[in-house]
Amino acid sequence: MSDPRWTEVDHYIEGKLLGDDAALGAALAANHDGGLPAIDVSAAQGRFLHLLALAGRAARILEVGTLGGYSTIELARGLAEGGRVVTLEIDPHHAEVARANIDRAGLSDRVDIRVAPAINTLDAMVAGGEAPFDLVFIDADKTGNAAYFDRAVALSRPGTIIIVDNVIRDGGVIDPASDDAAIKGTRALFDALERDDRVVATAVQTVGVKKWDGFVMAVVK
Ligand code: SAM
Repeated sequence: MSDPRWTEVDHYIEGKLLGDDAALGAALAANHDGGLPAIDVSAAQGRFLHLLALAGRAARILEVGTLGGYSTIELARGLAEGGRVVTLEIDPHHAEVARANIDRAGLSDRVDIRVAPAINTLDAMVAGGEAPFDLVFIDADKTGNAAYFDRAVALSRPGTIIIVDNVIRDGGVIDPASDDAAIKGTRALFDALERDDRVVATAVQTVGVKKWDGFVMAVVK
């Protein structure tokens, strides 16, 4: 489902509130040249992540799913002084492109890219007693969402905000018969959230250049 006005309105928002951004534009161009899929967050969504980091004075941010580092750049820009983003990526080529993009944006001193299946890195972080994060953004393979969310809570403190992207999937989330692995993974996340008394959560639907989708937002109790 799509309406051309969704994209037009996103472009209006970009023109009024976001402006041209050389580092983000260069990152998108490098992603394209490097053959990465164009599945980054939108410009408005990236700014939203930036604002969440700023509002929470986040010093420690965890991201699951780096791609070319577009959202990582926005998160890192919102860090408090001396803060750090830890971002997890399975694909070494994506990580290499992200490293160059983040470097070009002048942010490589505050971003740590860990290349491995995210669940392995997250389990190692939990076992290693990693300090809690202030903000978590989950945006990797959707089949892992429930497990990533569980580990994110384990790596949190009371008040940590956890965002999980792409949870509406053009409305597909309400189809119990779907055999789409991403929809099944998203529904498993909602099932887990329904019983998870460690957090207060909601989901917000969105439209725009990324069509009809949305995100889960949870705050750890
Ligand atoms: N957050 C990025 C942005 O907005 O710029 C987009 C991330 S993209 C939607 C998903 C990324 O997750 C891809 O780069 C993919 O390689 C990575 N990914 C997929 N499965 C993964 C896994 N099991 N562990 C870690 N990363 C994974």
